[in-house]
Amino acid sequence: MRTPRLYAPPPLTSGSEILPDPESTHYLRHVLRLADDHPVILFDGLGHEYDARIRTPSKGRTGLAVGTVRQQVERESGLKVWLYLSLARSTKMDWIIEKATELGVAGIQPVTTHRSAVPARQERQDARLRHWNALARSACAQCGRSWVPPCHPPLTWPAFLHLPTQPGARFVLTPDAPHGFGLGPIRGQSVHLLVGPEGGFEEKELGAVLDLGYEPVRLGPRILRSETAPLAALAVLQALWGDLNDPPTPRPEPA
Ligand code: SAM
Repeated sequence: MRTPRLYAPPPLTSGSEILPDPESTHYLRHVLRLADDHPVILFDGLGHEYDARIRTPSKGRTGLAVGTVRQQVERESGLKVWLYLSLARSTKMDWIIEKATELGVAGIQPVTTHRSAVPARQERQDARLRHWNALARSACAQCGRSWVPPCHPPLTWPAFLHLPTQPGARFVLTPDAPHGFGLGPIRGQSVHLLVGPEGGFEEKELGAVLDLGYEPVRLGPRILRSETAPLAALAVLQALWGDLNDPPTPRPEPA
C-alpha cells in the first residue's frame, strides 16, 4: 500500500503532534484501518511535505506525530496557468476544480458572464468556496502536489475586466477562433486562460477581452462541453509549454 498522503494546515513543526480533522481520522482509522505507528505523509499546501506517524494520544483519539521535512520531489509545473472560468453548475465546477488541480493549474478564478450559472447567495457562496478549496486539497493529496492552487470567489464580469494586468500570455477559448495555441514560444511562463459558459460568450464580452489583449484560440473542430474545454486546454498547454510531455529517456543503442 502506498503511504497515505494527507493535507494538514500550516504551520507544521517537526517533533510536534497534531490532531487530524475528523475526515482524515475516519479515512486513516476506518477506511484504511491503520494502527499506531503507521507512516503517513503530511503536506501543508505551501510546498512542504513531512513524514509522520499515527499515534493514539488518548483512548479513542487519533494523533499524528510530525517527523522531518521530506526531500521535495518537484511536482509543480514551470508553466503557471491561471484559469478564469465562466461560473458553471456546482457539479461541473467540482469536476473542473478537481481535474484542473491534477493537471497542474496555478489558480482558479470563476467569473460570471451573461450566460454563466447564477452565483449563490453570500452564505452559500462561502460554503461553496470552502468546498472548492477542500476539493483542490484532496486532489493535491491524491496527485502528489504540495502546493494547493487557490480557488477564489466568483468575480462579476466588470470586476474581471478591471483586474490589474498580470504578466504572461492571455488566451480566450472560443470555437470560432481561427487557430489553436500553435507551437511558437509564449510570453513568460504564465498563461491566463479564459473559458466561456455552456452557451458561449456574448459578442460584446468577446470584444471586451480581445481589447484587453486576449488571443482567441480554438481547440480543434469539435465543440467541447464547458467542463471539457478547460481541461483539454490545460492538457494542451502543459504538453506544449509545461510538464505534461517529458522528453523520452534515450534508449540504449542496440549492441
Ligand atoms: N456555442 C457555443 C460557442 O460558440 O461558444 C459553445 C460553447 S462551449 C459548449 C463552452 C465553452 O467551451 C466555450 O465558450 C469555449 O470557451 C469553450 N470551447 C468549447 N469547445 C471549444 C473549441 N472547440 N474551441 C475553443 N473553445 C471551445
